[in-house]
Amino acid sequence: MKVSVDRELCTGCGLCVDTCPDIFELDGDLARAKVEIVPEAAEDCVQQAAEDCPASAIKVE
Ligand code: SF4
Repeated sequence: MKVSVDRELCTGCGLCVDTCPDIFELDGDLARAKVEIVPEAAEDCVQQAAEDCPASAIKVE
C-alpha cells in the first residue's frame, strides 16, 4: 500500500496524526506522510485515517 497527503486539500486538523502517528506528522500547518510505502502492520490505521479525513486529502493505492 502507498500513501500520500494532498496538501492542497489538507486543512491541518491533525486527525490522521492522532489516528496513525507512525505514518503521519504535521509539517508546519499541514500533514504529511512520513513514508510512501506503508508497512503491513500500519495498513489498517492508514485506511481508517483516509476514511476519517474530513478533507479527503489522504490517498491510498
Ligand atoms: S486528517 Fe486530513 S485534513 Fe486532517 S491533517 Fe490529516 S490529511 Fe490533513
